[in-house]
Amino acid sequence: KQLSSAQIRQMYLDFFKSKGHEVMQSAPLVPHDDPTLLWINSGVATMKKFFDGSVVPKNPRITSSQKSIRTNDIENVGHTARHHTLFEMLGNFSVGDYFKEEAITWAWELLTSPEWFDMDPEKLYVTVYPKDTQAKKIWLEEVKLPESHIFEVEDNFWDIGEGPSGPDSEIFYDRGQAFNNLAEDDPESYPGGENERYLEIWNIVFSEFNHKPDGTYEPLPHKNIDTGMGLERVVSVFQNARTNFETDLFMPLIKKAQELGNGVVYGDEAATDVSFKVIADHIRAVTFAIGDGALPSNEGRGYVIRRLIRRAVMHGQNLGIQDAFLYKLVAIVGQIMQSHYPEVLEQAEFIAKVVRMEEDRFNETLKDGLQLLNEMIAQAKKNKASKLSGKIAFKLYDTYGFPLELTTEYAKEQDLVVDEAEFEDQMKQQKERARAARSNAKSMGVQNALLTDIKTESKYVGYEKLVTNAVLKD
Ligand code: ATP
Ligand code: MG
Ligand code: MG
Ligand code: MG
Repeated sequence: KQLSSAQIRQMYLDFFKSKGHEVMQSAPLVPHDDPTLLWINSGVATMKKFFDGSVVPKNPRITSSQKSIRTNDIENVGHTARHHTLFEMLGNFSVGDYFKEEAITWAWELLTSPEWFDMDPEKLYVTVYPKDTQAKKIWLEEVKLPESHIFEVEDNFWDIGEGPSGPDSEIFYDRGQAFNNLAEDDPESYPGGENERYLEIWNIVFSEFNHKPDGTYEPLPHKNIDTGMGLERVVSVFQNARTNFETDLFMPLIKKAQELGNGVVYGDEAATDVSFKVIADHIRAVTFAIGDGALPSNEGRGYVIRRLIRRAVMHGQNLGIQDAFLYKLVAIVGQIMQSHYPEVLEQAEFIAKVVRMEEDRFNETLKDGLQLLNEMIAQAKKNKASKLSGKIAFKLYDTYGFPLELTTEYAKEQDLVVDEAEFEDQMKQQKERARAARSNAKSMGVQNALLTDIKTESKYVGYEKLVTNAVLKD
C-alpha cells in the first residue's frame, strides 16, 4: 500500500476507534505531574494515573499517537536505521478491560487485513516470554501463526522495579536479505537479536503482576494492556525506505540541509549521511521540546536541548555549513507534522528564535573549540595515547561550550576515550571555587547578577502563547 505517514497514523487510530477505543491527544513531552520522568518516553508514561487506579478513565480503552523523547538513544541516532530522539509511539491501552486475546488478535488484524495495513503475514515474526504459554498459544491457535515465526526470548518481560509489570510480545518485520548485517548462522540472527533484517515495530505488554517492594510478583486484580508501535519504523516499511530517514517524515528536512550545505549530497558518503540524519532527527526533537515549554539551559531538560542543538551544529560543520542554519528547519518540522500537531507550526517563529539564539551562542566558540579538540586528538595520536585528557575535555566544556558527551563521541570516532574521571574532578574543583566565591560575595553583601543568575528551569506552560521575553533577552 502507498500511504503517507499522516495516513498511517490516522489508520492506526481509526482501527482502534473501531474497536471501541477513545482517541486521546498526545500529551506534552514535558511531564507535568510526574517528577520521576525527564521526558515522556512512551505512550504508557502518560497512562500511569489510569494504571495505578488514581484516576478512572471514562472509557477503559484508549488509543493515541504519543510524541516521545528517549535520551538513551541519542548516540544511536544517525548510526542505526531505526532510532530517534523524538519519535511517535502509536499505542492502544486497556485499563483493566480487554487482555491478551484481544490485544494479540487485533494487532494481527490491523497489520495484515487488506482494509488496514495489508502487510504480508510471511514477513511478520513475533517474540514471546518463555513462561508466557498463554500468549504463545494465542499466536499459534487463534492467529494461526506458524511456530517457525515465534521466538521465545528471555528479555520479554516489562519491569520497571516496583509497580505493574508483566511479559510482553514483540512484533518484527522481516526486511529481507538486503538488510542482513550478520551472517545467517550468527546466533544473533533472529527476530529480537542484533540482525537489522528484523525490524522491531511493535511491543505489546501484558501488565498482569504487581512487582512488590519485597521483590515478589502478585497477580493484579485488573490486568492492563499497553502497546507501543514506532510510527517512523512502520512508515519506513510502507515507503520501502532503507532507514526511517528516507520517508516523508524526514526527507524534506534532509533536502533543506542539503541546500544549505556545501554541495554535499545525501546518499554520497556514509559519514555525511550520518550528519544529515542527526540534523533531521535532532531538529525535530528540539522543535517539539521547545514547543512544549522546555528551553535550552545547563541542566535537566534544558541541557538535553542544548546538547541536541550542539550535536546537530557540529554535524552541520561536517556538511560545510558555517552559519546558524538549524533554525531554518523549524518551520519545515511544523509543516511535516501539521496534520496531527498544528501547534508546532503555530509556534514556529518563537521556536526558531530560541534555536537561532542557541546556535549563535555556540557558533561563537565552536571554531576555536574544534581547533583545540583536533589539535589534542592529533597530539594524542602522535604520542600513541588512547586517552584524551579530562582537563582538555573540561576546558572544551567550560570555555567552548562542548558538552562532555560531544567530546567523547568525537574522540571515539578517532578511537580515543576521554578521561572522564579527570573531567569530573575538574568539574568538582570548579564548583568548589564557585561556592567559595559565592559565600565571599554574600559576606560582602554584594548582589552580583552574574552570581545569582542561575539557569532557567523549564516548566510546562501549555500551548498558550509562551511568554518568555526574559529568556529571549538572556
Ligand atoms: P529497540 O530494541 O529497537 O531499541 P525498544 O525495545 O527499546 O526498541 P520499546 O521500549 O519496546 O522499544 O518501545 C516500543 C516501540 O517504540 C518499539 O517497538 C519501536 O517501534 C518504538 N521505538 C522505541 N525506541 C525508539 C526510538 N528511539 N526511535 C524510534 N522508535 C522507537
Ligand atoms: Mg531501545
Ligand atoms: Mg527492543
Ligand atoms: Mg521493545
